[in-house]
Order: sequence, then structure tokens, then C-alpha cells
Amino acid sequence: MRVKVNKEACIGCELCVSMCPKVFKLGEDGKSELIEQADFDKNSDCIDQAQASCPVAAIVAEK
Ligand code: SF4
Repeated sequence: MRVKVNKEACIGCELCVSMCPKVFKLGEDGKSELIEQADFDKNSDCIDQAQASCPVAAIVAEK
């Protein structure tokens, strides 16, 4: 699974962080970023949920 966060679009609402804390964290810029070494395949369900729930569609996930 490949995951990206579009920081230009992210508004830092933290929804993805609370839904999927093993994959997303807020960076120093207050925007979501991927946690290094995160296991995307193991967390694919919550990644899908975060992608579907992000209010600005900033998460791109592809299987
Ligand atoms: S849910 Fe979307 S807008 Fe909110 S922090 Fe995550 S990537 Fe950013």
C-alpha cells in the first residue's frame, strides 16, 4: 500500500491522527505527516477510514 499526505491541502484538523495514530502524526508545521516505519498494510483499514474522512481529501492511499 502507498500512502501520501498532501500538505498543501491539509488543514491540520487531526482527524487522521486520532483515527489512525500508528500511521499519521502532526508535524511541527501543524499538518499531518506519515510516521516513519509505519506499517501501511497492517493499518490499511484505518488508513481507508482516514482517507474517506479527511475533510479536504488530503490523504491519497493506493493499494
Ligand atoms: S484529516 Fe486531512 S486535513 Fe485533517 S489532519 Fe489529516 S490530512 Fe490534514
